[in-house]
Amino acid sequence: MSERYETHEHDVLVIGAGGAGLRAAIEASASGVSVGLVCKSLLGKAHTVMAEGGVAAALAHMDPQDGWQTHFMDTMKGGSFLNHWRMAQLHAQEAPDRVRELEQWGALFDRTPDGRILQRAFGGHTWKRLAHVGDRTGLEMIRTLQDKGVHSGLDVYMECTVTRLLKDGDRIAGALAYWRESGRFVVFRAKAVVIATGGIGKSYRVTSNSWEYTGDGQALAYDAGAELIDMEFVQFHPTGMVWPPGVMGLLVTEGVRGEGGILRNSKGERFMWKYLPDARRHEYAENDAEARQWVEDTVAGRASQARRPPELSTRDNVSRAIYTEVKESRGTPHGGAYLDISYLPAERVKRKLPSMYHQFMELADVDITKTPMEVGPTTHYMMGGLRVDPDTGAATVPGLFAAGEAAAGMHGANRLGGNSLSDLLVFGRRAGAGAAAHARKLSSMPPVNDAEIEADTRALLAPFERSSGESPYEVHRALQDCMDRLVGIFRVQADLEAAVETLEALRRRAAAVRVEGTRMFNPGWHLARDLSNMICVSEAIARSAALRKESRGAHSRLDFPGQDPALAQVNFRVTRSASGMRVEPTPLPQMPAELRSLFDAKPAPAKQEAAR
Ligand SMILES: Cc1cc2nc3c(=O)[nH]c(=O)nc-3n(C[C@H](O)[C@H](O)[C@H](O)COP(=O)(O)OP(=O)(O)OC[C@H]3O[C@@H](n4cnc5c(N)ncnc54)[C@H](O)[C@@H]3O)c2cc1C
Repeated sequence: MSERYETHEHDVLVIGAGGAGLRAAIEASASGVSVGLVCKSLLGKAHTVMAEGGVAAALAHMDPQDGWQTHFMDTMKGGSFLNHWRMAQLHAQEAPDRVRELEQWGALFDRTPDGRILQRAFGGHTWKRLAHVGDRTGLEMIRTLQDKGVHSGLDVYMECTVTRLLKDGDRIAGALAYWRESGRFVVFRAKAVVIATGGIGKSYRVTSNSWEYTGDGQALAYDAGAELIDMEFVQFHPTGMVWPPGVMGLLVTEGVRGEGGILRNSKGERFMWKYLPDARRHEYAENDAEARQWVEDTVAGRASQARRPPELSTRDNVSRAIYTEVKESRGTPHGGAYLDISYLPAERVKRKLPSMYHQFMELADVDITKTPMEVGPTTHYMMGGLRVDPDTGAATVPGLFAAGEAAAGMHGANRLGGNSLSDLLVFGRRAGAGAAAHARKLSSMPPVNDAEIEADTRALLAPFERSSGESPYEVHRALQDCMDRLVGIFRVQADLEAAVETLEALRRRAAAVRVEGTRMFNPGWHLARDLSNMICVSEAIARSAALRKESRGAHSRLDFPGQDPALAQVNFRVTRSASGMRVEPTPLPQMPAELRSLFDAKPAPAKQEAAR
């Protein structure tokens, strides 16, 4: 039966052509297996292209005290120790080599006066660690990986959306997809599949994420029987645009604060001073003068004896601070906070933050070299996703692998800025190698099930056949409203339970939507399919959040503001069962003693001095 569909065969099929997918495809291809790379947008347009601030790696170019151990510790602390220690370790150890490799492949990073890769400060990182290309780092990264990829002999399938993972018994056998332009179906047969489909932001209304982020990889994997973990941890970035409405949520890079941006409320108060957590207050400047000294040293490219400004606190903390200021009536006219970089020389702002300058000029008619920006929290990054083996990227279904934002474990309860681009490189490479090794062990292509494909295609076309039914756009609006209101920055039990009920109703509505027109490039039809993925991941978020009765990392509970030591020992695992979605605790992998001891060691006096 499958002959009726266009069919392609590859040893390894990589779904997603962002940083993770491209890096995985390059690695798999280098090992000699045949690789197909499928993406639902054009090659070069994946979400990674939007990354602005930089890629974190302990190159120690600006702060020679830096090393993988400190990067590892910062990452674990940022993740409230719910990260898989092995992923955080591999990431910290391998990120410098991955960045240098990118440079060898042609990436042109900003430079120090003596020609080394320049690194900037970011929240939660002890040292200046982010290699960057102005505020267009993702663009350079994608350009470089794409150049490398197309010369590696990959077969690329663009504007092609995967709708199901195909299985042979328990193991992966390929994927079903459709061409976005023609609406025609295509079957990929593969020995191994790498999920690199990115995040879930489109389940929320206010988000920095692009249209591609509909949680496809997480939902496809869940449907195929894979485990998801840490789904309660959704990162709300503190600084998205709040005005005008059409661009609400669009990211204002943390690079603005890294370059010295100051947050103020409507009364002109620099409010971050009062939100610094007591346990980490000593890491931040004492007063405006010390913060200013740090900025001046940074601008001049000098190592600073001053400590960092309070605006460089972690993202969850800054998000909650802005949210609270607005709630307590100290917000800006459009419901945000002021972020001011206009006190620095205009030429420097334009050079270091060119995208931000143009973004505000063109979209909001604001010249950020003269006027403060208005910013507020926006849904930004998903820490949860497929559970993977740290060394190989293997998910819990044989033949399935994952990397990048779609995978989980690396960032625990919260991600540090810059740690995603490095995550893509380190674990993209490992997942590509893991998938290729798996494929090489299979002597023949696993068979696909024609009846399964037939049933899927019928279900996908059903919205065209209904004579009545809601528009998928209405259901999407209701979903985003539910997630923004009930599963947002601050959560309470009653809201989370209400969200689970609402999502149940939305699932029924989504299953009955009607789509008009033909299969030829029909965004309404695409959304009809995406909706079920978004509802699936939203349910996993709401159910996991309801079980985590504490506040940790990016997950803030108004009814449980403290931390529960018992919950510090577990991740929540989401699986599909006959009776629906199951969420249960699973023990946290235990960190070996030699890594644990890093946290006990007292910093050497010289280092402590420099850390100021
Ligand atoms: C505005 C912005 C700025 C950021 N800045 C930084 C930064 O400075 N530093 C940092 O570390 N992180 C940053 N991040 C986060 C980082 O960019 C992302 O986490 C990262 O790029 C995700 O990469 P990925 O390879 O996992 O997915 P993506 O780059 O999003 O790629 C996903 C791919 O999957 C494809 N896809 C999805 N679903 C399907 C499907 N069903 N079928 C086929 N293909 C599919 C898409 O077409 C796409 O090709 C930023 C994020 C945003 C939104």
